[in-house]
Amino acid sequence: MPDCIFCKIVAKQIPASIVYEDDDVLAFKDIHPAAPVHLLLIPKVHIATLSQATASQVDVLGKLLALAPKLAAEHGCAVTIDEAGVPHGGFKTLINSGPDGGQEVYHLHLHVYGGPKPWRGLAS
Ligand code: 5GP
Ligand code: ZN
Repeated sequence: MPDCIFCKIVAKQIPASIVYEDDDVLAFKDIHPAAPVHLLLIPKVHIATLSQATASQVDVLGKLLALAPKLAAEHGCAVTIDEAGVPHGGFKTLINSGPDGGQEVYHLHLHVYGGPKPWRGLAS
């Protein structure tokens, strides 16, 4: 996808602050962070939106979901549950899909927001 900015990040044609990479997925810091921690997790393969993902791509979708809490924890946003069963910490995940879903970049991406109450003040 020559005009896709996230494909260009995957191809290292434009720079990004990469925090994780394997054969299937890439994660990097959002260029305009909306929270103290704001990461974008993407499949390396170009999938325009969640609606364009096919049954054969469920593995990479699962990898994105499984990676979110790991990277959140690495950035200080783990969810922990104490001995009394009280949860602490946390992060927010978001996938915008299509124009009505507020999507601006048409390469599927999972936002991970972290920090104190990261959903406060988020526009999307
Ligand atoms: P969307 O609205 O499509 O869910 O979110 C797109 C996100 O991509 C926005 O939060 C925006 O700041 C981020 N973004 C757009 N272009 C770039 C870029 O070139 N580099 C990085 N790191 N993030 C980008
Ligand atoms: Zn792409």
